[in-house]
Formats: sequence, structure tokens, C-alpha cells
Amino acid sequence: MQITEIYKSLQGESTYAGLPCVFVRLTGCNLRCTWCDSEYTFQGGRKMTLGEVIEEVSRLSPGGLVEITGGEPMLQEREVVPLMQQLLQDGYKVLLETSGERPLALVPGAVVKIVDVKCPDSGEANTFCMDNLRVLSAHDEIKFVLASRADYEFARDFMQRQNLSGKVNAVIFSPAFRKDASGARDTSHCLLDPQELAEWMIADDVPARLGLQLHKFIWDPAMKGV
Ligand code: SF4
Repeated sequence: MQITEIYKSLQGESTYAGLPCVFVRLTGCNLRCTWCDSEYTFQGGRKMTLGEVIEEVSRLSPGGLVEITGGEPMLQEREVVPLMQQLLQDGYKVLLETSGERPLALVPGAVVKIVDVKCPDSGEANTFCMDNLRVLSAHDEIKFVLASRADYEFARDFMQRQNLSGKVNAVIFSPAFRKDASGARDTSHCLLDPQELAEWMIADDVPARLGLQLHKFIWDPAMKGV
């Protein structure tokens, strides 16, 4: 499979946020979100066998949490599904972070799927694969990255219409970061003020949780591999 990087850091944007985690970042994405902070994954990387990936993951951490991410990892479904199966067999807790555009039916049931639904300001609205709603488990998570009030209203209405809070472990509303964010490690880089978002969520009693990308407040937002 084509890999951009494998590294150990803290999980940053789910209910697992704050836990040490090994990230396996696959190369390539078929979407082009306006605020994407992972454009360096669109090309390049290096070919690695399943055995080489497992070896590197176990060198970094003999057990614990592993997140498969990208890019869009499910573009390499034929390679990444056996990788997830092997990691599960080896005793890892496996998270899969995906754009939601690819079908997820073949993802092993024990994998925790963290699935985006793209909002209008991402430039990739209407890319969510609606069939994925049928393969979500009670341990999975749905994430909306928000850049505006219009995005918030889309997310709020989508989650109510699809009864997402009854389907998954958590629905996360996360303010988008400017993709050129650098320097200060604070909310000034958010495209949507978290305070404003919090006040909308409280006013509407939305059964979602506000998520901040933890790693952007710990390290310089421009840093890769964290
Ligand atoms: S799906 Fe993810 S990696 Fe692909 S363009 Fe959007 S934010 Fe970037």
C-alpha cells in the first residue's frame, strides 16, 4: 500500500482524543476540501507491504491504539482491510478516519469508524455515501467539520433527520481550522469561532459534542507528523 507516514502522537479529534496513538497515514484522496490540512498526502509516499506496516506500528507501540487515516484510506480498500484485520488480531484497538465518501461495508466490525459528513463550505457537500448509515455501529462516531452558520445548520438538520445520535457513540461538531494556520496555538485560526458554535449548540439543545482538534493547540498548527 502507499503510505505517507507512520508516527506516534496523541489522538486529536474524537472521543479518543488525548490518548497516545500510532497513526498510519495512507497516500491519496479523491476529495479536495477547501480547508484540507493534509494536502501533503495527495501525492508521493512510499510503497510498503502489510508486513512492513505492521512491523513499524509494533516498533512504535507494542499494543494500544492505532488510527488508519489519510488522505482517504479506503481508496486502498484491498490493502487496508487486511491491514485492519491483522492489527485487530495482534490486539490493537483500531480507529479508521474516513471522509465518508467511500463505501464502508467491508470494514471489520471491531474497527471504530470515525466518519465525516462533508458540509457545504468544504466544497465537497453531497459526497457522503448514504449506504454507510446502514453499516454504522454503536461504537462508531460521525464528525462534521464546520466553517459557517450554514454548515452548522446543515449538520444539525442532517443529524436530526437521520437520528444519528441513536445510531453512533458520538456525533462531533468541530470548527474547521485555516489550512495555512501557523504560529499561535489558539482559536484565532478557527474558521468558525468555537464560542459561537457552542452557543448555537446550547441554544438548539443539539445532542452532539463540540470537538476541538487537540493537536492544533498542543503543537504549532503547521506541524506535520503530530
Ligand atoms: S477528505 Fe480529508 S484528506 Fe481528503 S481533501 Fe478532505 S480533508 Fe483533505
